[in-house]
Amino acid sequence: MFQAVAYVSRGLFRSYAGLSVRMNSTGIDQKGVLANRVAVVTGATDGIGFAIARRLAQDGAHVVVSSRKQHNVDRAVAALQGEGLSVTGTVCHVGKAEDRERLVATVLEHYGGLDFLVCNAAVNPLVRSTVHASEEVWDKILDVNVKSPALLLSQLLPHMENRGMGAVILVSSIAAYIPHVELGPYNVSKTALLGLTRTLSLELAPKGIRVNCLVPGIIKTNFSKVLHMNEVFWNNFKEKYHLQRLGQPEDCAGLVSFLCSPDASYINGENIVVAGFSPQL
Ligand code: NAP
Repeated sequence: MFQAVAYVSRGLFRSYAGLSVRMNSTGIDQKGVLANRVAVVTGATDGIGFAIARRLAQDGAHVVVSSRKQHNVDRAVAALQGEGLSVTGTVCHVGKAEDRERLVATVLEHYGGLDFLVCNAAVNPLVRSTVHASEEVWDKILDVNVKSPALLLSQLLPHMENRGMGAVILVSSIAAYIPHVELGPYNVSKTALLGLTRTLSLELAPKGIRVNCLVPGIIKTNFSKVLHMNEVFWNNFKEKYHLQRLGQPEDCAGLVSFLCSPDASYINGENIVVAGFSPQL
């Protein structure tokens, strides 16, 4: 089934009229600021990615969730569909070319194209320090955290162009600004994403696609357990930056929805920190 939708022209990037979006199998006509737009979120079955997928869907988008494990994808899709949200899913290890191809195929099969790409998946193996990290560790971190967002975007780009108001959100980390020594190459990969955001934002502006970056602080997920469950580290961090609480995945999700929305149509190439404090000047 196809549905024609139209958006009002606003801001730096022109909007469009007459986009055709293939609806999901339920044929739900969405309401909300992102109504009937299509979003792809990587690493979306848990933590920050799951919260982002839920929020984009609550705001009206059709969302394709993905992660490495089929049972996690099934669980996330069932949970979100159970809330009445328009969500489909597929397995996609972002570091694997064949999985990225499958993600593209799933998007095309269900919706015929997409408007928003959120590159959230990442790895953070603990290493003693940057100089102790093996070449294998360097390759894995740079492949998954830095190369895969760029490669996935290039595979999806032909299906994002000419739809009016596309948006890409990369997910960096506070570690880009305040490196944690034991995370070594992870810090470096997250700093690289700030540069990737700036470069892509210039490159894709003529195509009407904005590229911005979410920079989470310490957010309560499995990924960050090693930090927020380390009492000495967490108490020092909290005191040093005057934090009143630990961040929640939902603290990040609202920003991503805003960055996709027409209200952010004049925001491009920005890194926005969601950390309860600012590490920037
Ligand atoms: P999380 O709770 O551990 O969730 C990670 C998600 O990514 C899961 O759905 C996992 O599912 C999936 N995943 C892992 N490796 C993947 C891969 N190679 N390809 C595709 N999916 C993959 O993590 P999180 O804390 O939400 O972190 C999400 C993002 O926020 C990351 O980019 C991280 O660097 C960033 N971040 C987090 C914090 C924090 O404090 N939590 C702070 C700064 C930045 P499967 O196991 O099924 O693959």
